[in-house]
Amino acid sequence: MRCPRCNNTDPDYFYLGAKGYYCRKCIGFKRILLKEKTYPREYEISANYRYRLDYPLTSYQKAIARECIRHIDREDVLILAVTGSGKSEICMPIISHFLKSKKHVCFAIARREVVLELADRYQKAFKDSTVTKVCEGYSDILYADLIVCTTHQLYRYPKTFDLLILDEVDAFPFKGNEVLNNIALGSLKENGRIVYSTATVDEGIQKLMAKRPYKVLRLDRRPHGKPLIRPQIFFGPKVYLLLRLCLLLKRSDRQMIIFVESIKICKNLYAFLKRFFNTTYVYSSLETRNENIAAFKDKKYKFIVATSVLERGITIPGVNVLILKLYAGIFDKASLIQMSGRVGRSFNDPYGEVWILTTRIDEEIKNTIKEIDKANEVYIL
Ligand SMILES: [Zn+2]
Repeated sequence: MRCPRCNNTDPDYFYLGAKGYYCRKCIGFKRILLKEKTYPREYEISANYRYRLDYPLTSYQKAIARECIRHIDREDVLILAVTGSGKSEICMPIISHFLKSKKHVCFAIARREVVLELADRYQKAFKDSTVTKVCEGYSDILYADLIVCTTHQLYRYPKTFDLLILDEVDAFPFKGNEVLNNIALGSLKENGRIVYSTATVDEGIQKLMAKRPYKVLRLDRRPHGKPLIRPQIFFGPKVYLLLRLCLLLKRSDRQMIIFVESIKICKNLYAFLKRFFNTTYVYSSLETRNENIAAFKDKKYKFIVATSVLERGITIPGVNVLILKLYAGIFDKASLIQMSGRVGRSFNDPYGEVWILTTRIDEEIKNTIKEIDKANEVYIL
């Protein structure tokens, strides 16, 4: 027995209901009977495939896109890219290439915030095409020339896509999640292809990609050609870290994102800091989440205390980043690199500082520094 959606074959997950056997491994995505056939919906792609960018792609970004298009007919492509290297822009010529021959394209990412931001950016660039965003709270329009969705929503599209771009495969909850991984593979047409993009490769991603042949393209340059910012590290007991934090805030001439490990720390630190500093805060379930982010972007606040909800995909020019790492096992290398990568993203202002304040310098921190140094080697040479 095999689940037609998540490919599960473990008999422990199969239950006999009134209508027949069904799979409990992917039941979170609505019950599916084993005998059920899933059919893709046919939908038309408009004749518009052109896009416009305010800043044209650099020659290096163009080269990566060209290489990707050259390989994608034969195999999947993994774009291994440092944060802020403009992956979503690099994908535009690739998307356009597929739309031109009226093929079905989807861009899927783990996080909802990024779906919302990216769909708007793509709609602005692909002005004459239709772009739809599909994620929690947005599921009215499921089909368009370009579909931008969370990886969770891919279950709606069985065998649908000629091209699936899977961005940030190193991010929770997609990373290492077998059900989500198999649903993603199940959204492809028989000859469909995947473009993966990630900043870091780990075992989970290798396991996912090992199922199909792929080509690796390396993109270790940001469009402005400036290196990644190397974090400065302070370590000591919590009281010392709090003092250091206040000092750094007092001296910072830039806006700053302060990353913390939990909602509880986020609330407490915000309550403390707001008495002395012009501060706001954000976490995923906060009702005023979007307003707070918008107010910070508008520079109404100098500091924002944030959980990992701001870790990826969001660009705020001219910020510093401070990471408060008090516990083991919460911020791993992938998220430390992403958080550090929030700094220096802007063309006009590729600078800024990153601090990690920690009670212990663990392997995750050491490997983060190693990886950033490695990506920067090309500049030192
Ligand atoms: Zn299943």
